[in-house]
Amino acid sequence: MKVLDRYSRQIPVVGEEGQRKIRNTSVAVFGVGGLGTLVARYVVGGGFKRVLLIDFDTVSLPDLHRQILYTTEDVGKPKAEAAAKALRAVNPEVEVVPVAEPISPDLAEGVLKEVDIAVDALDNWAARHVVNAAAVRRGRVLVHGAVQEWYGHVTTVVPRATPCLEDLFGRFKSLPTCTAGFCPVLGPAAGVVASLMALEVFNAALGKPALAGKLLVVDLKHMAFDVLEVARNPSCPVCGV
Ligand SMILES: [Zn+2]
Repeated sequence: MKVLDRYSRQIPVVGEEGQRKIRNTSVAVFGVGGLGTLVARYVVGGGFKRVLLIDFDTVSLPDLHRQILYTTEDVGKPKAEAAAKALRAVNPEVEVVPVAEPISPDLAEGVLKEVDIAVDALDNWAARHVVNAAAVRRGRVLVHGAVQEWYGHVTTVVPRATPCLEDLFGRFKSLPTCTAGFCPVLGPAAGVVASLMALEVFNAALGKPALAGKLLVVDLKHMAFDVLEVARNPSCPVCGV
């Protein structure tokens, strides 16, 4: 009865079979910052099986305007641990696993072995491409999102069926990592992009990612949403044949 109550607003939307699929799906959230905190919050709230939180960073004061799992008291604490604590309080039925380690090919491979869906909520392109390559190698669906200022985009990589991040954003690989002041962003813009990513995680768990082969681009200053069809690069060094 308790389980029914917890998901009683969600089951009429996804169906009992859908809820079973969600319950049997594990998710890795790479980056528990502006995007990852909210994605993880919805995924844990929705009753997924297991959620891994991969982040090597600690909470800092400039994070708090958008990273909704953290409070001022968390400043200085490891994000993966602080997020796990907050998420377990939201839904103790979901196994939440903090992984406070830097992203490397080995780490990404090891994490992806344990999950069905990967979420790229990272803040730098070098790490995003490491996760992309591991997702392609492991054949895992990868929900990718990025946000800056008022703008963002979301796409879903289905390995060898849709373009991977190398096809779409390979040229961004050498952009520097976000440091204070380098990646300005509005809190609610991160919230919108993260919500779209979380919806794609639900869609993917239910078997139909809506943004596979499509790039959703949002301009939240003008409230404009565009969906672009994207094509694979057959000679992509990561996912090409
Ligand atoms: Zn590719």
